[in-house]
Amino acid sequence: MESMETKGVALVTGSGRGIGLACARELARRGFDVCLNCSSAVSLERTAGAAEAIAQEFGVRAHAVAADVSDADAAKAMVDEAVQTLGRLDVLVNNAGITRDGLIARMNPEDFDAVVDVNLNGTFNCCKAAAKVMMKQRSGRIINMSSVVGVAGNAGQVNYAASKAGVIGITKSLAKELARRSITVNAVAPGFISTDMTDALTEEQREAIAGRIGLGRFGEAEDVAALVGFLASPEAAYITGQVISVDGGLAI
Ligand code: NAP
Repeated sequence: MESMETKGVALVTGSGRGIGLACARELARRGFDVCLNCSSAVSLERTAGAAEAIAQEFGVRAHAVAADVSDADAAKAMVDEAVQTLGRLDVLVNNAGITRDGLIARMNPEDFDAVVDVNLNGTFNCCKAAAKVMMKQRSGRIINMSSVVGVAGNAGQVNYAASKAGVIGITKSLAKELARRSITVNAVAPGFISTDMTDALTEEQREAIAGRIGLGRFGEAEDVAALVGFLASPEAAYITGQVISVDGGLAI
């Protein structure tokens, strides 16, 4: 495809697959140069391949970095690498996330800490590194992936719910902190979306969940990416501190 004038640079964490990959593709479709991220060297080849495919399809620059977002130094190095490679940083999507479900009686402290480390501390680490760059630029968009579970809770997910409710707290506080620098901070709260994360559910569980969703089905990663693309667009410049659901009517 012909290369087009760039709309800026977007970094999407956890973007070698699932919702993150759909977000990176949507931002590239909108003309952003994109930096993809995966958790370790193990998934770097696949993620670099995804970046290459995005560059080919949308005519933007695309780069891939392996970094564990729960490691503050690695998160900072990733942001630095994105800026060094692509020139600036206009959009950060904190999408990297994991689950380790279990009822509280069987959930050990390691399961709790692991989920909070990636989902909540990872979001903090990347926000801190990116905010420094964006504050200097006096512009930017931060979009944090929360969950309907962070809003409403879910049996068997106290760790995940705590991390995703925490992400909402970060979002609202940081929106207040950064507004004067023309940086917006919003959260997206997906319901149940078909990805590797929800593939772990049994067919019986999937049917029971679908029955609780107004639209009667799981969403697609692209449904979430569409909102992320909008929040990164000029049309969303006056929206900040919000938590917006993409859940097919699950939590209304
Ligand atoms: P997924 O298919 O399991 O993909 C998770 C992504 O996060 C992968 O790219 C993974 O990288 C990355 N990741 C995991 N730990 C990481 C770490 N320590 N550092 C950097 N990257 C890491 O998940 P998904 O369903 O697309 O979910 C994406 C986000 O949406 C998550 O925050 C999730 O909580 C949220 N969400 C999902 C749903 C849903 O129904 N699917 C609903 C609500 C919210 P590797 O490829 O290297 O493992």
